Amino acid sequence: MRIFLSIEQQASGIPDAVSKLRFLRATAERRQRRVRALSRAIRIVGVACVLVLGQPVTRGKSQAPLTRSVTVPAAVTSTVTTVWLVEDSGPNRVYSNGLQVRTGYTAQSTPRRYRTFSHATLQASPVASAPSGIVFHTTESLIVPLEQGLNRALKRTREDVLEHVRRDRLYNFVVDRFGQVYGVVPEDQCAFHAGHSVWADRERVYVDLNESFIGVSFEAQTDSVFAPSSAQLHAGRLLTEMLRSRYGIAEANCITHAQVSVNPENMRLGYHTDWASNFPFRELGLTSGYSAPVPAVQVFGFAYDDHFLAAIGGRPWDGLTAAEEHLVRDAGGHGMTAEQYRRHLQQKYKELRRHQVERAG
Ligand SMILES: [Zn+2]
Repeated sequence: MRIFLSIEQQASGIPDAVSKLRFLRATAERRQRRVRALSRAIRIVGVACVLVLGQPVTRGKSQAPLTRSVTVPAAVTSTVTTVWLVEDSGPNRVYSNGLQVRTGYTAQSTPRRYRTFSHATLQASPVASAPSGIVFHTTESLIVPLEQGLNRALKRTREDVLEHVRRDRLYNFVVDRFGQVYGVVPEDQCAFHAGHSVWADRERVYVDLNESFIGVSFEAQTDSVFAPSSAQLHAGRLLTEMLRSRYGIAEANCITHAQVSVNPENMRLGYHTDWASNFPFRELGLTSGYSAPVPAVQVFGFAYDDHFLAAIGGRPWDGLTAAEEHLVRDAGGHGMTAEQYRRHLQQKYKELRRHQVERAG
């Protein structure tokens, strides 16, 4: 049986004062080494916890808790960095990944309230309020070259854009030419950025995305000779990281306006074609790109014309080809020609919209 004596009790057994002092000093140093080792171990455990919490967080239903694990296709899953709000005072909000959001152009809108639809039956979900994805836009405003001598023009065009976005509640966020991020419409409110639009992930179908998706716009033009600046790309990446971390947004739901915009009048894609090509998915930490099957085609039978084909670079995206092939396969499975099945899907879209209008009324 071991008997534990206190340091003082052990020291009291040493008759020589110098030896007693040496014993006490050595014991104190041993204790300090143990405390340092212990605190190192605690730090390592802490880092491990952060890494576990930072594993891919994906979501299906918008009301799911952020840590809920939902299966999404492996090819479109990427790691989500955990990002949190550090400071919310003064003119900027500061986040842990270095993102700064300017609040000088904030405008109030209406709260998010939306329903999603099941793939199989198009049955509506309960009302949700947390954003399920991000739609990326360009402002399509005047783009002035990034040159020192044009500083005044650069600032003036930026301010014109922000005033316009604030007045019409167009986007939740704007990333200016200098990579500054402006929070315009609060994240829990609708910005009017996506109009008639369709998207779907593995579990749910989303129609008219103003309420369900956050709108992020780069001060840029899709066809401009001036590509987004490196500062814009960096800021866009930080903003995307923050939004995905905060709302558990799956990578599959980070897409461009051109990928979702539809025209219900003629049942064609591409009412808006911003970021129809060259969107810097990879620079923003996203790998899905234009290869994701286009849900407007696959689920609702939308078609496209030469105008759209020209906008996307003259050659269909891989995702457009994949959606068309899917539609043809499904048509065969239903014993219909592709055109019959397309009309059947389009009819479903029209019925869904009619129900939406009735519900809203
Ligand atoms: Zn747009």
